[in-house]
Amino acid sequence: MKAVYINEHGGIDRLIHGDLPDPVPNDHEVLVRVKACGVNYIDLWVRRGLPFLKIDYPFVLGQEVVGEVAAVGSSSCAIPVGGRVILHIGVSCGHCELCLSGRDHQCSGYQLLGKNIPGGYAELVKVPEANISPLPESISYEEAAGLPTSFTTAWNMIFRTAKLQPGEWVLIHAGGSGIGSAAIQLARLTGAKVITTAGSEEKLEKASALGAEYLINYRKQDFLREVRRITKKRGVDVVIEHIGEEVWERSLLCLATGGRLVTCGATSGSQITMDLKHVFFRHLSILGATSATKDVLLKIVRLLEERKLQPVVGRTMPLSDAREAHRLLEERQQFGKVVLVPE
Ligand SMILES: [Zn+2]
Repeated sequence: MKAVYINEHGGIDRLIHGDLPDPVPNDHEVLVRVKACGVNYIDLWVRRGLPFLKIDYPFVLGQEVVGEVAAVGSSSCAIPVGGRVILHIGVSCGHCELCLSGRDHQCSGYQLLGKNIPGGYAELVKVPEANISPLPESISYEEAAGLPTSFTTAWNMIFRTAKLQPGEWVLIHAGGSGIGSAAIQLARLTGAKVITTAGSEEKLEKASALGAEYLINYRKQDFLREVRRITKKRGVDVVIEHIGEEVWERSLLCLATGGRLVTCGATSGSQITMDLKHVFFRHLSILGATSATKDVLLKIVRLLEERKLQPVVGRTMPLSDAREAHRLLEERQQFGKVVLVPE
């Protein structure tokens, strides 16, 4: 099969487009013919290398995968060969305390597609049967490729971690990113008041179309000052962020008393500083989240089918252009999802 893989960690030039042997499904595994794969910031981290991350080379990146069933390892598979599927990003052990309490995404043996096990920058990928869900005909592969990570993570942050309520104020950083554009829509479903940031007027316009009511161009305006102005010095109830260092301290200052900050990433760096006094004197909560439990993807697919959510596909590119796709994310040039499609 054709695939994009790495043989060592490093820069964009470490991405190799070439041939690898086809994966072979074992019992209770499924071979999926990839139709589209979303590009996620985690792919950049894996390419560069992460502490404690050990992978077998050649390693195929790519976490957000949709396609059709190409072969099944056992006859009991619920979706037949040729069926359209969307893949859950995580493989869990299924029998630890966390898995049995329904928190499979917190399993200590949790393995992520494209991070711990080979992912979807390829024509074929194999996953356990439990990792495939049906994808309705009314949702295109390109649209669906932004759902498995960006939308599920945003869902986990907004609903399960921040527990955002109708009428609350929420600041969503980087409204043009995959996470940000999903979070804006999910926050609006609750009836919350959404403030978002982006680095250009064009991105802000698109964020506005998704439901963000208040827009801040972070290249021209100080977001802390703007949040204070917009909320009349009250502050926001929730901050949703994945930027880290660049925005951390000011994000805490954006919070109203009793506010919650939820983080799912650190694209500008993870070594933050802050004054702890703000946290206890103002009763703040700092919360972490990454992926979500498998049921979340089913809910998101349903809402998309009803067009209560809209996928934000920024650009579709051939798989062989994976280097260019990584460059777009690295340079923050994209609004919405960059999707790779095998030729
Ligand atoms: Zn487990």
